[in-house]
Amino acid sequence: MQNRVHIIGAGLAGSEAAFQLAKAGFEVHVHEMRPEKMTEAHQTANCAELVCSNSLKSKDPVSAPGMLKAEMNQVGSLVLKAADQHSVPGGQALTVDREKFSAEITQTLRALPNIKFYNGEITEPFADGLTLIATGPLTSTAMGEWLAKATGEKDLYFYDAIAPIVDATSIDAERSFLANRYGKGGEDAYINCPMEKDEYEAFIDALLAGEKVAPKNFEKEIFFQGCQPIEAIAATGRDSLRFGPMKPVGLTDPKTGKRPWAVIQLRPENRSKTAYNLVGFQTKLKYGEQARIFKMIPALKNAEFLRMGSIHRNTYVCGPKVLNKDLSLKSNPNVFLAGQITGVEGYLESAACGMLAAILIQQRARGQAIQPPPPNTALGSLHRYITSSDAKHYQPQNANFSLFETSDFEGVSALRRDGAREAMSKQAIVNFTQWFKSESQRPL
Ligand SMILES: Cc1cc2nc3c(=O)[nH]c(=O)nc-3n(C[C@H](O)[C@H](O)[C@H](O)COP(=O)(O)OP(=O)(O)OC[C@H]3O[C@@H](n4cnc5c(N)ncnc54)[C@H](O)[C@@H]3O)c2cc1C
Repeated sequence: MQNRVHIIGAGLAGSEAAFQLAKAGFEVHVHEMRPEKMTEAHQTANCAELVCSNSLKSKDPVSAPGMLKAEMNQVGSLVLKAADQHSVPGGQALTVDREKFSAEITQTLRALPNIKFYNGEITEPFADGLTLIATGPLTSTAMGEWLAKATGEKDLYFYDAIAPIVDATSIDAERSFLANRYGKGGEDAYINCPMEKDEYEAFIDALLAGEKVAPKNFEKEIFFQGCQPIEAIAATGRDSLRFGPMKPVGLTDPKTGKRPWAVIQLRPENRSKTAYNLVGFQTKLKYGEQARIFKMIPALKNAEFLRMGSIHRNTYVCGPKVLNKDLSLKSNPNVFLAGQITGVEGYLESAACGMLAAILIQQRARGQAIQPPPPNTALGSLHRYITSSDAKHYQPQNANFSLFETSDFEGVSALRRDGAREAMSKQAIVNFTQWFKSESQRPL
């Protein structure tokens, strides 16, 4: 059995994969370039650092991220265990204290005797054992170049954008109110900053006119729909933000007793609630412009910005074209990929992909037939997307119901949306349990 695995990158995917492989008895070598070489977004040397929002998406069991969590918990996910241990109020979302979360994962991995850590940038796979590349959206240039050569892909870059964070004490309590949308999720976690129609219109004018950072001319600018900068959304129509990140539905301003015209939601960054991020406010406005324009939001008139939004690149391969069913490269079968580099999008999905890669590596190392989870599970639907969706239109994808085929489930095609989703979520966990049970019982 091939039992040595080199993992390049100790992010969400690499950390989860390292834990799963170590648990299965593999000799794991983790190679992380931070702190010797930092990315444009990471700020610490910790494993599984969350570079932007502190949310691992919905806990609702009738949502694709909720379903994915239930499956990952069954396998025993390190990332989710740490997230649960260090969660902060976030309504329906699993939000965490980012520092404690990644410190927990780092300590757990470092305490495992069969994991060895190395610091420094790696520029190509290892000749011995198997290699798992989990270098993420900010893969170093040299590693990206190796990948481009190995896959024949030329366009490995596009942009994502990150949201600003404000100091809690600088938010005007008189001009904002605490509430979760539709009152869901227990303790009120969000600070809502309402806007009247005229304030909103002036804000849109300023956003559209605001000075933006120019894209680099050698890179193509392609925004993933789920992570569009607000000014790009505003450019699609004056009301687009009111139907997107500034939607007021499910919120009533207690001062007026009415639904506001538009709302900016602020979510706590830590348990002590000393800082809040502007939900969905990714932007590529210049820093000075951000401060000027975001202060037009009445509750943020005197806001102190602890972090500004920014643009960043994302590196990923065309999964269906270059990956085998076990997530190894068609051109280099001893090299596996996991995380955002495969074309999944999001912290949760990247961790899930790391777990998936670890399971498939175990199957390969044991000489077993490759058996990914079936597509009528959340993890299986992600696997199907990254290995066999339409290569021509391949774009990063997060866990969502569009990845499921109703025909993969029993009696779901005839149901309406909510009923179908509920039925799919119930069946998916049963399907996953069955698959995981047979997987655990396969002879070594
Ligand atoms: C700026 C930014 C903001 C984002 N915001 C969000 C968000 O709010 N919510 C969300 O769900 N997702 C977000 N994402 C997307 C994505 O889910 C996260 O980046 C996630 O961390 C991806 O997990 P990963 O394991 O694939 O990569 P990462 O977590 O980035 O881990 C990759 C690791 O590899 C290391 N590395 C890179 N190259 C090398 C090399 N050559 N040798 C050794 N080590 C190397 C890096 O230092 C890093 O530690 C964001 C992405 C970016 C870039």
